[in-house]
Amino acid sequence: MTDHRDDEIPQWAAHELGRVIISPQELHARVAQLGAEITRDYASRPPLLIGVLKGAMVFMSDLMKTIELPVDIDFMAVSSYGAATKSSGVVRIVKDLDAEIAGRHVIVVEDIVDSGLTLNYLRQYLGARSPASLEVCALLFKEGEQRVEQTIRYTGFRIQPDFVVGYGLDVNERLRNLDGIYEFTGTP
Ligand code: 5GP
Repeated sequence: MTDHRDDEIPQWAAHELGRVIISPQELHARVAQLGAEITRDYASRPPLLIGVLKGAMVFMSDLMKTIELPVDIDFMAVSSYGAATKSSGVVRIVKDLDAEIAGRHVIVVEDIVDSGLTLNYLRQYLGARSPASLEVCALLFKEGEQRVEQTIRYTGFRIQPDFVVGYGLDVNERLRNLDGIYEFTGTP
């Protein structure tokens, strides 16, 4: 990742933000690469993308537009943090899938993998519904934070274990609409 200048930080939220972690331009370029990889890997078996709400919503909508295949989409909503900034390890399904996934080639689209507990839970939950295949595409992977070993087929960026916001990621439901990923330095 390149160094960023302070003037890249949106002024309306600058009082709560530290460094630019990933700029909008870097996000755009990397998401296109991931889409191209998925297009190549799934050419003979168009995938079902399952976005994990709410955090992955922005990533999912950009990613799906870069995949040149007839993809289907669905969403799940899980809650793992409540209002805190560290994982409780407790995952709760807030919204389940709309359709059956048996026999489908599923790609779980996640915003960020921190402890890995959420993903571990989702893998077991979805795996039990007999998909033809099950892979994960995570935009961000926090280095050194995993409590559960994970095999992630597609990873956008590996980042340091700072708490980050923007591009779908929130703090208490705020700051999801930032166009890049930023370090959060405010009060949650
Ligand atoms: P895990 O279960 O891997 O510890 O946590 C995964 C979930 O925690 C993510 O889907 C995301 O909702 C939330 N999360 C983890 N790290 C961060 C972070 O740095 N910023 C924000 N906004 N959410 C995070």
